[in-house]
Formats: sequence, C-alpha cells, structure tokens
Amino acid sequence: MDLQFSAEERAFQRDVREFLESELTPELKRAVSLTPTVFVEKDIADEWHARLNRRGWLAPLWPKQYGGAEWTPVQQFIYESEAARAGAPTTIPMGVRMVGPVIIRFGSEAQKACYLPRILSGEDTWCQGYSEPGSGSDLASLKTRAEPEGEDYLVNGTKLWTTHAHYANWIFCLVRTSSEGRPQAGISFLLIDMNSPGISVTPIRSLSGDHEVNQVFFDNVRVPQANRIGDEGQGWTCAKFLLEHERGGVFSHRLMAMVQELRRLMIDTPDGEATLLEDARLRERLAALEVRVLSLEITEMRVLSKLRAGDPPGAESSMLKVEWSELQQALTELAMDIAGPYAQFFEPGRPLYALAGHTLGDERLARIPPDYLNTRAASIFAGTNEIQRNIIARLTLGA
Ligand SMILES: Cc1cc2nc3c(=O)[nH]c(=O)nc-3n(C[C@H](O)[C@H](O)[C@H](O)COP(=O)(O)OP(=O)(O)OC[C@H]3O[C@@H](n4cnc5c(N)ncnc54)[C@H](O)[C@@H]3O)c2cc1C
Repeated sequence: MDLQFSAEERAFQRDVREFLESELTPELKRAVSLTPTVFVEKDIADEWHARLNRRGWLAPLWPKQYGGAEWTPVQQFIYESEAARAGAPTTIPMGVRMVGPVIIRFGSEAQKACYLPRILSGEDTWCQGYSEPGSGSDLASLKTRAEPEGEDYLVNGTKLWTTHAHYANWIFCLVRTSSEGRPQAGISFLLIDMNSPGISVTPIRSLSGDHEVNQVFFDNVRVPQANRIGDEGQGWTCAKFLLEHERGGVFSHRLMAMVQELRRLMIDTPDGEATLLEDARLRERLAALEVRVLSLEITEMRVLSKLRAGDPPGAESSMLKVEWSELQQALTELAMDIAGPYAQFFEPGRPLYALAGHTLGDERLARIPPDYLNTRAASIFAGTNEIQRNIIARLTLGA
C-alpha cells in the first residue's frame, strides 16, 4: 500500500486549504457544528453547493466535458479530509453523486444535455425513490408499476423513506415495467417530475422530531417514456451502479472531528466543573473510539491504494459502511454520557443554528440528544449493516 502523496497531490492539498480558508465562513461552520440530521439543512447545503460549483469542484467524479472536476480518488480523499478538518458542509448527494453518474453512464446525449447542467446549477433538487413498504433490503421485490400508455407511462404505487422528497422537484425511481421472469429483469429507471399531477408527499418525523424522510404516493402519474434511463428492464443495472457510488466515501476525518469535539466537551464541561478527562472510564471509551477511527482511516487508505491501482474496492466498501455507521452511533452514545443530566433536555426548535441560544446556555448541548437519536438510522440506510455483513461473508468467505 502506497500512502505517500506525490508533489502534484501536495500542491492540490494546498489549493484545497486556500479554498476552504476563503470560502468557509464562520456562519457555515457554526451551522455544520449544530447539525444533528443526516444531511445539513438545505439552505446551508445549497450555499456550499454554489461555492463549490463556482470553483468547478462540485462534481468531483464527473468527466470534465459535463462540468465535472474529474478528480482522482486521491484528490477526492484529500478534499474530503481537508473539508472535514475545517468543518465544511457536505453537499446533498442525490443529484451530483447518485443520479448524475447514472445519467452520464446510461443516459442519452439529450438526457445528459437536459439534466446535468441543472444539477450543477442547483436548479433541480433530486430525491431517490428506491425503497417501498416491504421492499428495502429485498429491493427487487418492488411493486410500483409503470404501464405504457401511448408515449407515456402511467405510474402507480408508493415510495418510502424518501429523503428530501419535500424539497425535490425531481425523483429518480425504480419502477416495475414487467412481472415476467426474474424480478430484477422487470425493473426500469425512471425520472419523474415531482410537480406532475397525481404525486403527493407525506412527511415522516424521525425519533428526534426532524423532518428529512417522507412517503411519496403515485396515483396515475403520467411520465413520458423519454424520461426512462437506459432500456426498459435495465433499471437493476443502473440501480447497482448507483449503490456503489452511494456507499463509497471518506468518513474517518469527520469522525475524528467528533472525537475532538467530545474531548473538548470533557475538558470544558457544561457545568464548568472538574474535567471529565479525570474519569477513567470515559477517558478509556474515548481512547478506544479514537483508535477505531484511526484504523478506519487506514482501511480507507487501503481502498484508496486499490482504486489508484485501478482495482475495485471489493468487500472493503461494505466493511467501511459498517464501521463508520457503528462508530457514529458509539460516539453519539458517548456524547450523551458526557452530557449526563444535560442530555435530558431536548431542544425542539429547528434548525438549531438559527436559534438565538440554547435554553441551558451552552449551545453545544443542543445537538447531542437529536444527534444520538438520528444516528440510529445510520446502520439502516444505504443498505443495512446486516446486509453489508452478508456481502462481506460472500466476498471473503464465499459463503
Ligand atoms: C434515515 C433514512 C433515510 C432513507 N432514505 C432513503 C431514500 O432517500 N430513498 C430510498 O429509496 N430509501 C431510503 N431509505 C430506506 C433504506 O434504504 C431502507 O430502510 C433499508 O434498505 C432497509 O430496508 P427496510 O427498511 O425495508 O428494512 P427490511 O429490509 O425490512 O429489514 C428489516 C430488518 O431485517 C434485516 N434483514 C433483511 N433482510 C436480511 C437478510 N437477508 N439477512 C439478514 N438480515 C436481513 C435488516 O438488516 C433489518 O434489520 C432510508 C432509510 C432511512 C432510515
């Protein structure tokens, strides 16, 4: 494994640091530090989206001909690690990282010309319509139907847990266009305008009271067949391609920022009393988590080294998903214990960064309980951890 950056990569790292220095405002940093939800609030994400787009860095993996940065995996690693250290927002992935690569890989030239520029400009906001009631891990069993009628499809059914459907003006959906043969073979990938008659969106509140996910209903929704990506029945291939993009990424540096924040909270305690670093049990838990985050970083670099050599990541991408999600959960559990009695107070106002102050006087506390509750979902979304463990077993043991 080669862990050394080349001279060009170090020069790129300097560019990223300069960009963050000039573009990351104190307001954006504060908003990120007070974000308990999976994604940062839409207005904050949109502002960062625009700043990255102006610099040409919004779509790191897209080819340059479509407005992408065409970064190498190492450049992406450098950007992600520097952005996490600086406390920069993440962008919302459904456009740039999910549907964008599918359109580039499987779409027609007309579809590329229509959708890709609007993803970059922020004109379109996308959501992902894969899961349904009863079809999550067993996605191929999905039932939402698209039946041909003239040049259109008529779509009927429902999608569940659709993140940001209440903001999106487009949804990319897996729909059933045939019930013949293997379930996977009857699935197509369809782009649907969320303003079409017959679509309704019902909010689902998370345990913490946040609104990120929804149920979307389709009642005789007319969608042009021209909005299908790839051939009829090719949806499963698009879906698998997209999931590979969804699970990838660099997480250790954001987790290390959480470790550092917890250490600060233990030293500078909410009630200003003796440092909690003197509590051997809390200190040991923090140290053990920090070691796991460091070993996650080494695994990420191992994947990077494989990618740099042109090899697919294999079972490691599932290992990374299991480990970052379980670390996130363990770190937020430790945060609850550090906050102790202060964790009993739940701040209902949202977004947290827009509130004038925390009722207990220390705004760092406001994030802790909702963060703890929201991270329970991390071992479920993007493929549950049980499913990831099945994949690891199959790829490494041939089980
Ligand atoms: C916060 C959040 C955001 C989400 N956002 C989106 C979104 O934007 N778009 C979208 O399409 N979906 C989204 N999802 C849905 C997510 O992808 C599914 O919840 C997930 O795939 C699990 O499916 P399920 O909920 O139907 O659970 P099920 O598949 O019913 O699983 C229930 C339990 O059984 C276990 N299980 C199932 N099959 C097996 C097996 N073969 N072996 C071992 N254990 C198994 C699972 O691990 C789980 O513990 C989101 C989910 C959450 C929680």
